[in-house]
Amino acid sequence: MIDFSLQIIDWYRRTKRNLPWRDTNNPYFIWLSEIILQQTKVNQGMNYYFKFTKNYPTVIDLANADEQCVLNDWQGLGYYSRARNLHATAKIIQKQYNGVFPSRYDEILKLKGVGNYTAAAIASFAYNLPYAVVDGNVFRVLSRIFDIDTPIDSNEGQKAFTYLANELLDKNNPSEHNQAIMEFGAIQCTPSNPDCTSCIFNERCLALRNNTLSERPIKKGKIKIKNRYFHYLHFEDQDSIIIQKRTKKDIWQHLFEFPLIEKESEIDEEIMRNEILEKIGLKPTNLTKLPKHILSHQHIYATFWNFNSLPKEDFINAIIIKKNELSSYPISRMIDKYLENV
Ligand code: SF4
Repeated sequence: MIDFSLQIIDWYRRTKRNLPWRDTNNPYFIWLSEIILQQTKVNQGMNYYFKFTKNYPTVIDLANADEQCVLNDWQGLGYYSRARNLHATAKIIQKQYNGVFPSRYDEILKLKGVGNYTAAAIASFAYNLPYAVVDGNVFRVLSRIFDIDTPIDSNEGQKAFTYLANELLDKNNPSEHNQAIMEFGAIQCTPSNPDCTSCIFNERCLALRNNTLSERPIKKGKIKIKNRYFHYLHFEDQDSIIIQKRTKKDIWQHLFEFPLIEKESEIDEEIMRNEILEKIGLKPTNLTKLPKHILSHQHIYATFWNFNSLPKEDFINAIIIKKNELSSYPISRMIDKYLENV
């Protein structure tokens, strides 16, 4: 399979985009870039990569940073568990590995938030170790060139694609081979409208020959979406505002928001006013409904109830802060959107 590798590396050298994390073999920087790029587009992730490598130039700097600062720097990128994992992992590397990023695949794989793909990426890009990356791009490229109809989200599919990716891997140049196949999926063999006419593999691509291209890769099950109904109580007077920290293991853990009442289903506005809000002893002056906020597995329907004074009642984990201090607390993109419009 060496010809596959030679061809794709040759294509990569001619076509690749210049991306800052490709100019380094510093495992810490590569790890940062990989975690930032999970669920994030390259253009959006770029500024965060520059911010994190500048603000935390070594893994020890990140370990010693305050979690709130790390979450603040992450703000806008979503999936905050990634930032918490980064911070927690930096501390583990500081403690268990003396601040030196681990260099063995099995050790890298043990780090929090690091799965098979990320471990293979760090091991190959930083240390040139022969582990093939298998991400969405690789699934797509291989399923098309070899016209594989095994679902990629099945155990069988994971095993088959990992085996094939490792068979194809150039063991002498795993770093460039892995970069090449991912780049090929990102800019040539794209999810829709792949550029087959100019493709170096168009003569051997079985999905193109068999006219199954639009059906590759195959997925077994679609993700089940959960609807959630959030009612935020936005209390503020002339100088102060009440915010609350999310402490449960859930979306946006450790971020701040307004005191929240979550309901199982959509609830009539009048019922909400009469039965629930009245118990607080204050009448809302206004309410704002946000358009559906979409996360990968959840849709959030948020209503913000505005009060122009502070309640007597205490809310768990709530604090009263000055309004102008709000920007120093990490908040979700959804709360940010709401604040942009009030
Ligand atoms: S011919 Fe088209 S589908 Fe096949 S690998 Fe090339 S770009 Fe992808």
